[in-house]
Amino acid sequence: MDNNRYSSNRPRRKVSRRTYRNRRLAALAIIALLVLILIVLIANACADGKDKKKPADSKTASTMTTTTTVTDAAIVTTSTTTAVATVPKNDSDFKLDRQTISIMVGESDMPRVLEYPEGTVEADERWTSSDKEIATVDSYGHITGVAPGVCYVILKSAADLNQEVMIKVTVRGEASDEDDDTTTKPQSSRTEAPAPPVHDTEGLTYIDGILLVNKEYGVPATFEPKLEQICYDKFNELSTAAAKEGLSIYISSGYRSYKDQETIYNNYIEDEKKKGNSESEAKKIVDTYSARPGYSEHQSGLCIDVNTINDAFGYTPEAAWLAEHAHEYGFIIRYPQGKEAITGYQYEPWHIRYVGSKVADKIYKNGQCLEEYLNVG
Ligand SMILES: [Zn+2]
Repeated sequence: MDNNRYSSNRPRRKVSRRTYRNRRLAALAIIALLVLILIVLIANACADGKDKKKPADSKTASTMTTTTTVTDAAIVTTSTTTAVATVPKNDSDFKLDRQTISIMVGESDMPRVLEYPEGTVEADERWTSSDKEIATVDSYGHITGVAPGVCYVILKSAADLNQEVMIKVTVRGEASDEDDDTTTKPQSSRTEAPAPPVHDTEGLTYIDGILLVNKEYGVPATFEPKLEQICYDKFNELSTAAAKEGLSIYISSGYRSYKDQETIYNNYIEDEKKKGNSESEAKKIVDTYSARPGYSEHQSGLCIDVNTINDAFGYTPEAAWLAEHAHEYGFIIRYPQGKEAITGYQYEPWHIRYVGSKVADKIYKNGQCLEEYLNVG
């Protein structure tokens, strides 16, 4: 076996000394050139390695291959250099106010850019969606849910294409009574929504995708969703908008477990009994302002009591703003004035319930309470 194609046994043509010298010089020149190219490429690769903005998990790579064959001088030079072009991920100098966004179909949300990379300004923002069938994004970064699913929105800098940051976007089925919506979609990933109005295996009641919790429809003691992320996120938007008008709206009480509510309810009963009421009288009174354990909407993780929980709150500019704007963020004033007989609760200007902006808008415009809207109770 002859593995050496260029063995010394290979016959050579006779050439003059001069030609031979010229060819040798040419070959040396080519080698020198190749070595130079190699040095430049290695220097570039080292520079990339020092650049922290460019992580190792590169997605694209360009390959440069140089092959030179100088047959006469029996020299074969093959130089293969791979120059790695790196694509930064969430290691960029963009700083956003969050890395994930959760929205419902038809709803919009916008992450805020807190810091820009050096040399990049607002006008350099370039927003793209990894899947426009799940969520779209406009040139300002408004992300809109199109269909349930998960995708990524990518923010790049037109001034520095190495600067790139991703936001994970989760789009949930809209909890509304859409015209074409004959099947009920879950409002929470933790629970499946059954066809209305029936109890599912977990003992929850969904009507048109809305979890109903009132004096009649309870939730099991084991149901512990905590405060739903969507509710929290939307409240923060609401609170931020109010703050721009100089108003302070904050969470006073959000999620409450069955146990929490049990303690609250029993304490109220004791208070009423201390005033001289009998056990049954005390319950009657407490039932007008406090839910029994398992029947508090606070256990749903979808409602929030804001600011001070007393009637005086109703006379504050914050309460007036909340009544006029809560629906824009998907909330309703759950126990409105004049609906006490239907809701079973006195007017609570501080208690807001998340139902999604479409439903909230309808309830607001119709001047209804949730039971009226869902046609129950
Ligand atoms: Zn409340």
